[in-house]
Amino acid sequence: MRLLVGLPVSEKLGRRADPAEVPAPEHELGQTHARSTDLALLHRAILRSLGHDSVVFACPAVPPSPPPRADRPRYELNVRVASDLKEVAGDLTVRFTPNRPTKRLVFRLWPNGPLQRGEGSQLDVGDATANGRTLPASRPDPTTLVLQVPLRAGQSVEVHLPWRLRVPLDARDRVSRFAGGIRLGSFFPVLAWDPRRGWITDPPARILAESSTTPASDFDVRVDAPAGLEALASGTKVGADHWHAHGVRDVALAVARFRVVTRIVHAPRPVLLRVAVARTSNVQGSTVLRMATRALERLSRLYGAYPWQTYTVVVPPDLHSVGIEYPTLTFIGASPILRVIVDHETAHQWFYSLVGNDQARDPWLDEALATWGQVQLGGGLPGSLAAAPADQFQHVGAPMSYWNGHQIAYFREVYGGGVVALSSLGTRRVNCALRHYAAQDAYRIAQPGDLLDALNRFIPGAERRLRRFGIRR
Ligand SMILES: [Zn+2]
Repeated sequence: MRLLVGLPVSEKLGRRADPAEVPAPEHELGQTHARSTDLALLHRAILRSLGHDSVVFACPAVPPSPPPRADRPRYELNVRVASDLKEVAGDLTVRFTPNRPTKRLVFRLWPNGPLQRGEGSQLDVGDATANGRTLPASRPDPTTLVLQVPLRAGQSVEVHLPWRLRVPLDARDRVSRFAGGIRLGSFFPVLAWDPRRGWITDPPARILAESSTTPASDFDVRVDAPAGLEALASGTKVGADHWHAHGVRDVALAVARFRVVTRIVHAPRPVLLRVAVARTSNVQGSTVLRMATRALERLSRLYGAYPWQTYTVVVPPDLHSVGIEYPTLTFIGASPILRVIVDHETAHQWFYSLVGNDQARDPWLDEALATWGQVQLGGGLPGSLAAAPADQFQHVGAPMSYWNGHQIAYFREVYGGGVVALSSLGTRRVNCALRHYAAQDAYRIAQPGDLLDALNRFIPGAERRLRRFGIRR
């Protein structure tokens, strides 16, 4: 899961092995001193690393970003939420145009991953049709639907697919029902196409972490919510429970009774920022609005304009000290480290949402960079990790297949070790490289080599210097 972030929380995870149990506020207070010591140590480590950066460095102007590909998938998604919130029925129509020949379409059904099924999620699909004809289908594993459709490069197909989702109560992962509402992410069948690599069929992670790889797409989403409940989705609201999201990799949805506060943020283009706090949560919407405003403004100065017209922050009552990012919509757990979570998940809007990655093969590409962005905002950070000997972090670039079964080590190395690795290159130059990377690889699915190319450009020997952290192209 695109969790968290602050080391104190990780350490608690280490003892309790359950993010849902993380910190009662009184415990957090007791850690304040330790954390500020950690902060001082990290700042010292960063200052030391700035020795590499002592010559005055001016970041060259960033060229304009490319728009999303013209041949991106176009989805129409209908979502009907049952009045008892236990089930969601839906159907989708997607127009897909491959940029290279293929014999099949591959949809991923992420609610059927082992961890998600263990929590009670289940995504079933009906017959897929194209031009009124049922398509031959196979299910090589519970998270994968393969449809036999031969296509030439540039040839489009429009596929209709009905689906049904079971929504478990109080789940820790991305599909969950709470008192009076639901929050859904990675919840419908989604095409796993990478224009550079073709179909991406990584196995699902077995710990709380994402495995999804999807191309930037357009979504037209209509939600039929139970009476009295409000639906909030990724993108722009264009009608009653009707949403458009353009150039996004996925769509998240929350349905509940919310207190909503909004404002226009300049990031630097105007963005409608919406904070929706479930009425069963006791967080102040104005507090979250202030945090998200600050994060959007500062991150856009560091990594380039926020490219979408809206940003929605949903605070459900059940996430506690974690957050989950989706394009233009993040779920934020109410917690003493609220700001850290807002900073981290907002940084994912650049690293995961705008510049995508194969989250199963290269989880560090979005998690290390989102944690890096969070650290730039001065929020919580993996403090004592930064002061730890760098040789403790030798697997930052490892895939989820390596981390399966090692949740704590995953956070420690990928989130914390990733920041330590980048800090060793010098903060200003890394931020410059990331700004260029975000522009050049906008809307694409980046690979480690793309980030290393950007770092090499501004930092002599960056790629070689990162090898000891297990980072390779
Ligand atoms: Zn994250």
